[in-house]
Amino acid sequence: MKVTVLVGGVGGARLLLGVRELLGATPFPDPDDTGSSGGSPHTVSAIVNVGDDAWMHGVRICPDLDTCMYTLGGGIDEERAWGRRDETWHAKEELAAYGADPDWFGLGDRDLATHLIRTQMLESGFRLTDVTAALCRRWNPGVRLLPVTDERHETHVVITPPESTDGAQRAVHFQEWWVRYRAQVPTSGFAQVGADNASLTPEAAAAIADADVILLAPSNPVVSIGAILSVNGMRAALRTASAPIVGISPVIDNKPLRGMADECLSVIGVATTAEAIAEHYGARGRAGLLDGWLVADGDTASVDGIAIGTAPLLMSSPRATAQMVRDACALVGVDTPALAEER
Ligand code: GDP
Ligand code: CA
Repeated sequence: MKVTVLVGGVGGARLLLGVRELLGATPFPDPDDTGSSGGSPHTVSAIVNVGDDAWMHGVRICPDLDTCMYTLGGGIDEERAWGRRDETWHAKEELAAYGADPDWFGLGDRDLATHLIRTQMLESGFRLTDVTAALCRRWNPGVRLLPVTDERHETHVVITPPESTDGAQRAVHFQEWWVRYRAQVPTSGFAQVGADNASLTPEAAAAIADADVILLAPSNPVVSIGAILSVNGMRAALRTASAPIVGISPVIDNKPLRGMADECLSVIGVATTAEAIAEHYGARGRAGLLDGWLVADGDTASVDGIAIGTAPLLMSSPRATAQMVRDACALVGVDTPALAEER
């Protein structure tokens, strides 16, 4: 099977753990080379949000790619759910001692090594897609991690800063809004900034065209999935894909699990409910995206043109998540391998 998943950071990475549990690890580096690496015959491709990416202190930081890579590669700090485990913060403290801006971003020493290698490779002319593949040689995530675009396509946020005396608005990078202001500042909208012609990579386009099923992770519908969808060519690729598209709700009991999805949704005028998010994505038959939408047991949704299913949606373990993935696929008529008996 070929499964393609649109993902952000934490919610996306947890979903990928479940897909990998269900289908086994995709061989690396050549997904078609099943013989030599003894991996699964299945291929899992993750199309990853790059809207959170930023330059800081001269290095390129790709938070969602790194969250997926570290989570699947066993290097994540489980408690924080981002960054490296056993992290130290000496570089950050030294930068602060010099008064270097920004001083609010958590840049760990181990993590910094990843950013240094990425930056060197980008500056030598490699595409982000190839840089990510090179980093994944170390982490062996068992999933192809594909940035949605190789170009800059950063999410910026229009806010009224607390220090503004005349109510003047300013656009800040998403990281500043999220990490520095914790989204607790008057906010009027989001915009993607970067190359005007940032477009879907050929790898991401092929992963969509060749898929047997396309999943939307329960990632933030605005700044993760929304930022992916805003890349040139993405919506068209999804609409013309032969595979069914099924999304998994990021809310349970009409509350997001963690993160600030409700702050993001309220900025764009969408209620934090499973139904409102499904309406926001829209039915594929009606110029939207979804063929199916899986909501948490106890939540309800009804949207013309979208098949709605219910299942437990708490990604408490890779196994529980694997069952959730099976339920999502079944909703759009896609059979997946049975889960092995629990040991
Ligand atoms: P970020 O980029 O690190 O913010 O992560 P994502 O955008 O990938 O995912 C954040 C979203 O994941 C949040 O809106 C949560 O509601 C959702 N989420 C986190 N854990 C779970 C879970 O166990 N089940 C479901 N259904 N959603 C979850
Ligand atoms: Ca993110």
